[in-house]
Amino acid sequence: MQTFGNYINGEWVTTGGTFEVRNPANTDEVVGLFVKASAADVDAAAQAAADAFPKWAGMTGPARANILFKAAEILDSRFESIAADMTREEGKTFPEAKGEVRRTINILKYFAGEGSRTGGHLVPSERDRVHMFAIRKPIGVVGLITPWNFPSAIPCWKLAPALICGNTVIIKPASVAPLSAWRIIEALHEAGIPKGVVNFVAGSGGTIGKALIEAKPVKAISFTGSETIGKWVHTEASKRMLRIQLEMGGKNPTIVLNDADFNAAVENVVNAAFFSTGQKCTATSRAIVEDGIYDKFVAAVVERTKKLKVGNGMEAGIDIGPAVDEAALNTILEYIEIGKKEVGAPLVGGNRLTGGAYDKGYYVEPTVFADVPEDARIAKEEIFGPVLTIHRAKSFEDAMRMANATVFGLSASVQTTNLSRVFEFIYGAEAGLLTVNLPSAGVEYQLPFGGTKDSSFGPKEQGPAAFDFYSDYKTIYLKY
Ligand code: NAP
Repeated sequence: MQTFGNYINGEWVTTGGTFEVRNPANTDEVVGLFVKASAADVDAAAQAAADAFPKWAGMTGPARANILFKAAEILDSRFESIAADMTREEGKTFPEAKGEVRRTINILKYFAGEGSRTGGHLVPSERDRVHMFAIRKPIGVVGLITPWNFPSAIPCWKLAPALICGNTVIIKPASVAPLSAWRIIEALHEAGIPKGVVNFVAGSGGTIGKALIEAKPVKAISFTGSETIGKWVHTEASKRMLRIQLEMGGKNPTIVLNDADFNAAVENVVNAAFFSTGQKCTATSRAIVEDGIYDKFVAAVVERTKKLKVGNGMEAGIDIGPAVDEAALNTILEYIEIGKKEVGAPLVGGNRLTGGAYDKGYYVEPTVFADVPEDARIAKEEIFGPVLTIHRAKSFEDAMRMANATVFGLSASVQTTNLSRVFEFIYGAEAGLLTVNLPSAGVEYQLPFGGTKDSSFGPKEQGPAAFDFYSDYKTIYLKY
């Protein structure tokens, strides 16, 4: 059994107690043992990052980029095995894991490319013979706290822009799925990243997450995870006036209008609700369907859902893997029970899957509740599992009102062939990520990503927007 150490000041630290990471598809399998970092390890990592900062910040962007490009090549050379690791630790299907690892590689290359592109601003002065411009500068030591659902892409879309801007970093991945992030650190190490520039600490968020926020050299915290923890991170990090970026939960709607391409709309809703076991922050959890096609749509979604195959994501033909762990499974099952009380039996699903290989994993049936009142708890609270509620809307306006009637604002989707409705949706939907005639989930890295309302706080991630968080400006007025 491999023990995965923490990475502090360019060294693998393998001393200390360990915790197990088990395969949620087969809990007999231990994926790996991870060394539990202590608060003292976090402090050592923060000090190493602070010591490494001046030299790393002083390197040219293209020189930093070379290391990121090299790490991308290393990951690519191990593409299949890294994806298999991800399926084994997180449970998503192997094709989904391969898609995510490909995205991680592309994110590294994208931000590496920015190393020779990112500039500042040069504008004309009102004063004679004054040259005025602003250059970007890194912030310093940045702490990254990441969730388990995209265990490679999310760490990478924080690490890559942080590093290319010249910051030094400490990353704390989710405890249920730390291996995918560890693989990125391994690749950066092999690519020759100078010691202290990147540091990895595994272990409980309650202990080392807090230590990270409190570590003196840390100047900024980027967090992705639940709303509850995000708000706590905000409170603690604000006490130290840290720069803060939070990406949190969602209750994402897909509006389906009478004129939608019917079959595509069914496919998009089923895909966004259930793939990755509904454990995407941008997953559709509410389908809001116009009256004229409501009954037909519900019937079609139920039929399509019945065909989905749940099982071990390493097996061919599986559409949906297990929930990530027992706690996640129990939360999903609790919400299904709440739903049964609130609206009656689901039209499909509603149970834990048992018998044979299912007994070894955290499998749950994809579940559809229809005719769900807007104020039901299952329609308002984030479940983060394969549970879809369907709601009847009297009109487009009614659908928009329902879609926006949530504290969250991460993603939203509309399925329609009416161009005016598309634009009314684009301007009226209260969410940071909108899709039209596509699933609500499925993001690329080249544009800003993040939500509004209680889903997010601070500057957006990814694309050019990532630099707004990971760098600052220095403004210069020069008389010649
Ligand atoms: P979580 O429980 O909030 O954990 C997220 C991270 O925070 C983990 O690394 C966790 O460590 C750490 N943590 C826990 N307690 C902490 C504390 N007191 N101080 C500092 N860090 C702490 O979320 P999750 O269950 O991993 O992820 C699911 C949630 O993430 C969902 O709500 C989902 O919507 C959201 N999400 C949002 C986005 C987005 O971009 N908006 C993307 C993906 C996921 P441990 O693992 O050790 O507890």
